[in-house]
Amino acid sequence: MVKLAIEGGPSVFNGKTAGEYAPKWPSPHPETEQKLIDIFRSGKWGLRGEYEQKLETEFAAYQGVKHSVWMANGTTTLECALLALGIGPGDEVIVPGLTWIATATAPLYCGAKPVIVDIDPETLCIDPAKIEEAVTPRTKAIIPVHLFSAVADMKKILAIAEKHHLHVVEDCAHAHGARQNGKGAGSFGEIGSFSFQLSKLMTGGEGGCCTTDDDRLAERIFRLSHIGNSHWHPGTLAESDLLCRQYRFTEFQAAIIYDQLQHQPEAVAKRTANGNLMKKLLEDVPCVKTQKSSCPDDVRSYYFIILLLETERLKSGVDRAKIFEALAAEGVGFGTAWGCPLYKSLAWNIPDNKYVKHEMPVCEEVCYKRLMSWGHAMFLCEPWVIEKAVEALKKVMTHYAK
Ligand SMILES: *Cc1c(COP(=O)(O)O)cnc(C)c1O
Repeated sequence: MVKLAIEGGPSVFNGKTAGEYAPKWPSPHPETEQKLIDIFRSGKWGLRGEYEQKLETEFAAYQGVKHSVWMANGTTTLECALLALGIGPGDEVIVPGLTWIATATAPLYCGAKPVIVDIDPETLCIDPAKIEEAVTPRTKAIIPVHLFSAVADMKKILAIAEKHHLHVVEDCAHAHGARQNGKGAGSFGEIGSFSFQLSKLMTGGEGGCCTTDDDRLAERIFRLSHIGNSHWHPGTLAESDLLCRQYRFTEFQAAIIYDQLQHQPEAVAKRTANGNLMKKLLEDVPCVKTQKSSCPDDVRSYYFIILLLETERLKSGVDRAKIFEALAAEGVGFGTAWGCPLYKSLAWNIPDNKYVKHEMPVCEEVCYKRLMSWGHAMFLCEPWVIEKAVEALKKVMTHYAK
């Protein structure tokens, strides 16, 4: 057997790292520079400029919906989505335990209560069976998260929502370009919520949008995020239940995101080809598998590349930290995404797990023992980098397999 780099053997990447071969991220599209200069000189820096208006229709079309309404970030979008649906004090909103805290703070911002439930061990998205168990007479909505671009099982979730008369808001912060059964993320529920924060698949530094097919909801969301104004009905009042926010977006962000949108099909195709290559090569590697899609033909746009360690198949005494150390020595650096469930996040400043519905064994085991995340820019590399990375995985996993 070849000696591991961690034990003094040669490293698979010859002392370099896979990350050194990744393209610059976020992708700096050269045509954007002139657009930013033109906007700067024009003085039209905000208030729904040319590129924001283009995005409203073109991004919506890309995800397969009628409207997209743009605002400051993907936290304000979740808040406005719930407010637009009339969710408020006394209401409960079911959310998964593995997500960024914004999914669960959104109901709190509206005066409602998040109800945190466990995830599916293979897709890592909300477990539909756990949603059913958590429904009470106060439940008003579900926020499935398409985690790391794996679209949650929308057929099951929509059936549960219909049965119990619940609203569905999809948290699509990881799902630009993702599809299930040919339909875009953000087109299944009444409202989709996207983030364009710096780490996401499309970014303007910051930014967010809500998607919807419903004209009335689009208008309510627009008014909620634009201090009561409506570009459809200027000079008229918002519906009386809306206490509107000022969460507007800028034209600089819009221009950057607009250019990224033009490049999305090619970026998704490249990540998908590398994703398929990695999945195929990993069939020969013990003790590790990829995050599964809910439906076999789902389009994954690969926000993070997620592997799951089969810890029960490792030699005794070997854990994820040891595997990470050995892989890093070979030149392949993995991370743990957020490293914990949302209710253990430092940013979740709420004691006593008070919104956690039940024990969360799957979520905790995934976070603390199994999840291995690799940056999405790696799937924009040439295929040889992926082949070498899997060679490193094979070398390390074979060594540590029972
Ligand atoms: C990033 C993220 C958000 C919030 O987005 P911001 O634009 O940072 O406010 C919401 N949900 C999930 C799952 C996220 O990862």
